[in-house]
Amino acid sequence: MKILIINAGSSSLKYQLTSIDENKTIAKGLCERIGLAGSALIYKPTGRDAYEFKKQMNDHTEAMKMVLGALIDPTIGVISGMEEICAVGHRLVHGGEKFTGSALITDEMLATMEELTELAPLHNPANLMGVRACREIMGDIPMVGVFDTAFHQTMPKKAYLYAIPYEAYTQMRIRRYGFHGTSHLYVSERAVALLNKPAENTKIITCHLGNGSSIAAVNGGKSVDTTMGFTPLEGLPMGSRCGDIDPAIVTYLMDKNNWNTSEVCAYLNKQSGMCGLSGVSPDFRDLWVAHNNGNERATAALEVFCYKVKRYIGAYAAVMNGVDAIVFTAGIGENDSGVREWVMKDMEYLGVDFNLDLNRKCPRGKEVELTNPNSRTKVFVIPTDEEMVIARDTARIAKL
Ligand code: ADP
Repeated sequence: MKILIINAGSSSLKYQLTSIDENKTIAKGLCERIGLAGSALIYKPTGRDAYEFKKQMNDHTEAMKMVLGALIDPTIGVISGMEEICAVGHRLVHGGEKFTGSALITDEMLATMEELTELAPLHNPANLMGVRACREIMGDIPMVGVFDTAFHQTMPKKAYLYAIPYEAYTQMRIRRYGFHGTSHLYVSERAVALLNKPAENTKIITCHLGNGSSIAAVNGGKSVDTTMGFTPLEGLPMGSRCGDIDPAIVTYLMDKNNWNTSEVCAYLNKQSGMCGLSGVSPDFRDLWVAHNNGNERATAALEVFCYKVKRYIGAYAAVMNGVDAIVFTAGIGENDSGVREWVMKDMEYLGVDFNLDLNRKCPRGKEVELTNPNSRTKVFVIPTDEEMVIARDTARIAKL
C-alpha cells in the first residue's frame, strides 16, 4: 500500500513515497525554486543515486506533474502508474483550534483551512497550494491533512493562555498552539514503548532540537505543555530565531531603530538565535568548532541554548510532578553529544544517572538509552519520523 507524503512550502515541495505495509521509503526528493528562475526537481529512488532535473516550474501544479512524471517514468520510476498511489498525506502547519487531529481533505475542510490563514500567513497558503496541485492532478485519490499543531490541542487552558486581555484569545485567537506536533507524538510514543508501561502512566519530556527547536511535556500520552507558542518564534533560542525574550524588547528595538514590523520580525526570526549570538553560524557543528578554537561568543551561544533546554526540562518535570523519560530528537538532539552532555549535567535531582561514555559513542540513526540501568529517569535518543506519523494517519483516515 503506497502513500505519497507532501510537504509544500511557498517555493518548494518535498515529497516521499512510502510503502506503509513494508514500512519503507520507496523514493523521495524535492522541487526547489518553484516560480523562480533556476527551478529543479531532485528525485532519489531508495538505494539508487539521486537525479536532478533542471526545468522551469511556474507553480505547484507543474511541480507535482514533474514529481509524478519521475515516479512513474519507465526507466527511472518506482511505480507503474499513478493508480498505485492509494492516498496522499499532506503536512499542514496550522490547524488552529479547529483540528485536534488529522483530517480528510474535503472542500469543507479546505474552507476551514482558509479561515486559519491569518494565523500562519506564510505557511498555510503554501501548504494549500500543494493540496490544490495534488487534487488537480490526482483527482479522486483520498487526501489527508496532518497538522503540526494538532498534538498540542490537549494542552490545558492554564498552559495555552497568555496573560493579556482575554478578548485577545476569544476575538483574535491569540494563544499558545505549539508546533512540531508530529515529531513530539512519534518520539513520545516510542518512549512509551521503550519504557514498557501503559501510556496513561508515563510522564515524558520530548526535546525536538533542530534548526527549529521545541520541547513538550507529554503526560499520559497527551501533550500538556510545549515551548513554541502562538508562532514558532517562542521558547528555545534556535538557529536564527530568538525564542523567549521580554516582549518590551520588541517595541524598544522598533523605537530605537525606527523599524517597522517587518524589520523587527526579520531581526528576531532571521538574525537572532545561535546565529546572532555567536556571530558564527546557526549550525551547531560550526559552533562547536568555533568554541573549541576559543571563540567566546560561540561558547556563550551554546551555553545559552543548553541552559534554556535544562530550564524547560526542570519546568516540565515540575508541571507533571515527575518525569519517567527525557527524549532527544531531530538534527541536534540526535547527533550532538556535546549539547546532550551540557544539558544533562547536574540532573541527579531528577533521578537521572547519565552515562557520558554511552552518550559520546551514541550511534547515529538508532534508538539508544543513555542512562545506566538503575537510573530512575531514563534518557533516550530517538530518531524522529514525522513521515511515519503522516503515512500512518493517512492510511487510518483514508480507511485503507
Ligand atoms: P530542521 O528543523 O530543518 O528539520 P534538523 O532537525 O535537520 O532541522 O536539524 C538541523 C540542525 O541540526 C543543523 O542546523 C545543525 O545545527 C544540527 N546538526 C545536524 N547534524 C549535526 C551533527 N552531526 N552535530 C551537531 N549538530 C548537528
